[in-house]
Amino acid sequence: MLKKLFQSFRPPVPGQHHRRTTPEVINKSQHSLQRSQFSRHAVGIVERLQAAGYQAYLVGGCVRDLMLGISPKDFDVATSATPEQVRAEFRNARIIGRRFKLVHVHFGREIIEVATFRAPHSDEDQADSHRSSHNASGRILRDNVYGTLEEDAQRRDFTINALYYDPVNERVLDYANGVHDIRNRLLRLIGDPTHRYQEDPVRMLRAVRFAAKLNFGIEKHTVQPIRQLAKLLREIPPARLFEETLKLFLNGQGAIAFEMLVDLELFEPLFPASAHALEERPNYTHSLISQALANTDLRVKQGKPVTPAFLFAALLWPALPSRVLYLQSQGVPPIPAMNGAAHDLIAEQCQRIAIPKRFTLPIREIWDMQERLPRRSGKRADMMLDNPRFRAGYDFLLLRESAGEETDDLGQWWTDYQDANDSERREMIRELGSRDDGTSAGPRKRKRSGSKRKRDDEQAWD
Ligand code: ATP
Ligand code: MG
Repeated sequence: MLKKLFQSFRPPVPGQHHRRTTPEVINKSQHSLQRSQFSRHAVGIVERLQAAGYQAYLVGGCVRDLMLGISPKDFDVATSATPEQVRAEFRNARIIGRRFKLVHVHFGREIIEVATFRAPHSDEDQADSHRSSHNASGRILRDNVYGTLEEDAQRRDFTINALYYDPVNERVLDYANGVHDIRNRLLRLIGDPTHRYQEDPVRMLRAVRFAAKLNFGIEKHTVQPIRQLAKLLREIPPARLFEETLKLFLNGQGAIAFEMLVDLELFEPLFPASAHALEERPNYTHSLISQALANTDLRVKQGKPVTPAFLFAALLWPALPSRVLYLQSQGVPPIPAMNGAAHDLIAEQCQRIAIPKRFTLPIREIWDMQERLPRRSGKRADMMLDNPRFRAGYDFLLLRESAGEETDDLGQWWTDYQDANDSERREMIRELGSRDDGTSAGPRKRKRSGSKRKRDDEQAWD
């Protein structure tokens, strides 16, 4: 069944009918890649494996990105050597993974991932459940069936990710017309799209990620089944979805990725409560999330640190009010209602996307801070400035305002307060007077003076 699909993908080359596919070989003079553009450690691994008699290539994102003039995030190697054979060649190598066994070769902080050629799954393999297994909807649960280079190319996701670069003779092998699709800036799944998404629904998210990051179109057969299959994402382990979501939103094109996720109905299975808010209050919700992502994109492009907690705080914030109101309608007082709603919302979200504790805590703190920022009297404002989360809470307040939330100019007040000197600050607190709800502004010692606005690139946590 699978073989038929792969055969139909590309017309057989005359005289090569016995082969499923033959690569197009692109020589040094026909491509722009240079050996020196690749990590020397990765090139060293390929040379060493070839010298030991194995086939070995640089593959995947690094070849694709360099062809597009982008600097690759990491370098992957594919080889005919098994993980055990690879490990035997390198002292600094470790086998990792169960679902998909790989070797990590360590060079200080750089890790090169070395994968053994995989074969596409055939029905016979199903009998051997140690190496390969599927669930009822066709999802691949284990993928340790080794194969040839040709087979490895067919089981990769997109044609542009199936290019193999040999740094020794400086040739590129193209089994799936990947170079053609790079030229036309088109994302095309290898094989039958429905089948490939059923095997691994995360490929739908990868399609969005690459289209957004590379500014590529998605070929029509590749895009067509997505809306219908989007719900398959519910079966994916939440920890994997956390990793994928971060990659989608932190690659510098998160705002575009968000638009595409919504359009392709992939947002709902990832963020059900936020998708609901998007229906209830479309303008506000859309504006808040896309503004948060646009800010994040800018920071990524400027090389500034970004924190997933801030982003998740924004993604989930629009889903909070209806929950708070519900709890209040049940007689819960405002502050406990807010806390209860925040807790429930995060717990529910973690069923889909496993947000680690080190991020859920700061999400709660950012939200808590939204309650506290209006209360500025007495020493409160100064204590707030000393809070390590102040910057994130303040940025979040500005974000809410930019999405149209009415806050009585609270953001501007805090901006001015940070820029004010001691006596100006005292005056600002006095002016709040009876408008404020808190304790009276008595005499006190000041720690801060002059312009103490926290720097934009300061990280509140890590
Ligand atoms: P980047 O590292 O820039 O995010 P990449 O294409 O290198 O992009 P990786 O996740 O590092 O992505 O995967 C390396 C390669 O492994 C891919 O280029 C692709 O060929 C293959 N691959 C990764 N994930 C899948 C998948 N879910 N299905 C099929 N092939 C995959
Ligand atoms: Mg990669």
